[in-house]
Amino acid sequence: MEVLKFDIVILGSGLAGMRAALQAAKASNGKARIAVISKLHAMRSHSVSAEGGISGVLYPGEHGDSVDLHAHDTVKGADYICDQDAVEVLVNHAPEEIKLFDHLGVPWNRDDKGKIVLRAFGGMSVPRTAFAADKTGFFMLSALYDSLLEFRNIEIFHEHIATSLVLEKDGFNAITAMDLSTGEMRAFVSNACIIATGGFARCYGFTTTAYSSTGDGICLAYEAGIPLKNMEFVQFHPTGLVPSGILITEAARGEGGYLRNSKGDRFMSKYAPHALELASRDVVSRAIVSEVEAGHGLRDEKYGDFDFVHLDLTHLGEEKLNERLPMIKEIAIKMIGVNPAEEMLPVRPAAHFTMGGIHTDIGGNAMWDTRRNVHGLWAAGECGCVSVHGANRLGSNSLSQCVIWGKITGNSAFQLSRRTGGRNVTTQLRKRFEREEGRISKLLESDGSVNPYDLRREMWGAMDRYVGAYRNAKMLGQGRKKISSLLHQFSNIYLKDRSRIFNTNFRDALEIRHMLALSSVVIECAINREESRGAHARREFPKRDDKRWMKHTLAYKAARGVKISYAPVAVTKWQPEERHY
Ligand SMILES: Cc1cc2nc3c(=O)[nH]c(=O)nc-3n(C[C@H](O)[C@H](O)[C@H](O)COP(=O)(O)OP(=O)(O)OC[C@H]3O[C@@H](n4cnc5c(N)ncnc54)[C@H](O)[C@@H]3O)c2cc1C
Repeated sequence: MEVLKFDIVILGSGLAGMRAALQAAKASNGKARIAVISKLHAMRSHSVSAEGGISGVLYPGEHGDSVDLHAHDTVKGADYICDQDAVEVLVNHAPEEIKLFDHLGVPWNRDDKGKIVLRAFGGMSVPRTAFAADKTGFFMLSALYDSLLEFRNIEIFHEHIATSLVLEKDGFNAITAMDLSTGEMRAFVSNACIIATGGFARCYGFTTTAYSSTGDGICLAYEAGIPLKNMEFVQFHPTGLVPSGILITEAARGEGGYLRNSKGDRFMSKYAPHALELASRDVVSRAIVSEVEAGHGLRDEKYGDFDFVHLDLTHLGEEKLNERLPMIKEIAIKMIGVNPAEEMLPVRPAAHFTMGGIHTDIGGNAMWDTRRNVHGLWAAGECGCVSVHGANRLGSNSLSQCVIWGKITGNSAFQLSRRTGGRNVTTQLRKRFEREEGRISKLLESDGSVNPYDLRREMWGAMDRYVGAYRNAKMLGQGRKKISSLLHQFSNIYLKDRSRIFNTNFRDALEIRHMLALSSVVIECAINREESRGAHARREFPKRDDKRWMKHTLAYKAARGVKISYAPVAVTKWQPEERHY
């Protein structure tokens, strides 16, 4: 295995990873040697598909907005299980990040006077989401990528898939990765590492996320002994386009779109009389499921075997769609042959975002438990649970989180690397690399009787069926049985492609194992939490139970399955109240 030494290693090149790289490069005056590793070409990272925008109070006072109101909306949206000190960091730093991206060249939508326009989003009391049409992620990621190319001290390793996280008692030591283009293994040795590998909503079949959102970094951390926080909270976005699941951004409702049932009624008036279609996503998704269960859903052979409701954008008019939602219009026409200016779109809730992830402190430092940090290891973006989103993220808060904790962790990693200098490659470390090389060779030669793609298909079916917007003990029990059987079968897979050059069969197998492991953690945490809070709705426990459950779940990998423990929730200003939208 080739051994490469860096001052800072960043795993992931989405908005969080690239923002961290930019910060570390700037802080070091272009001196620290930084590696950015990505299993995709950096610009294909999932952030590129973010549509609706980024939240931040750009104009305090306008519409009565303030950072406190942004914080309150976020805490309420989170169903009070976020850490409020972290939320305060989010809302205070979001405006300066939007301005930074303005300087980096993001073409924010502006009014006639050149002022950045803000749009409404679900769960936000006032418009506070900056956007570049409905291609915000594309523009932000492009701007970051261009900026990184100016730094000679940043080396981007495109299409390198990490296979293990090497931690010793002293903390982070290295990441091992395979160069997908050649099959060569590389060890990236450093004292400082930021994991920024995104979420894991691909554990579900009906999802808005890319095939690459498989939670690899979260799984590697879990397997290295780091607990995962709040894994039971998976967000279902109300408007996944039927039948593919492609996202129709919440901005479509922010710009004035309606949801209608089979009778043509705007049913949200029953579930959220004030916010209507702009209630938080957990509320809107459950409303859609309830309408369908009450027999008010729609079905159409041409959209497959799905019940759906309608998203009505027809009254917005062609001009507004062209200016504010051009990609949504294009997606609808290309995918299902429907022009949203003329006809309504079939939509249903789709797995979209994972609130849970690597347990970190407020600075993004990974934690072994509630007290001890993992020296030299941070997690930023969707893979980290800091936790600002609690039980339910508000739309447009993720991009702010990614770039803010990208910046924070980039700074911290640089400070550490400056203090500690380079890491020695000990004999013990080399032995671990050899063992990992052996494990990977063995996986490449897998010659069992199980097709890994069958496992993935069955996992998708089980997660969609048993671990959806509503859960109960029986469904979760069935999900547990199914996933544990699939995990067991994984040890008997075969790979059709045994070569080392761009072996996507091998890459998929690695990802499938990660998703199976994380699915089982989601299910265990969901079984454990006997209440309904945010995105976790248990039929037999329909109420939130602050007395027993106002605490974060921590899930550890144990010799047999998952071990659950807890961490306290930080409450600064906002005491838990019942949520009304
Ligand atoms: C369709 C869609 C639209 C969205 N729109 C918005 C929006 O408008 N506003 C908002 O706030 N949020 C939005 N979100 C959520 C938001 O886009 C994501 O949470 C955010 O972009 C995640 O960024 P990230 O940097 O954490 O990870 P990602 O962008 O997912 O990047 C992960 C990186 O990790 C790398 N990686 C993963 N595993 C490995 C491995 N094993 N080895 C090496 N590299 C690896 C990948 O190559 C990639 O570079 C949207 C989500 C979806 C699905």
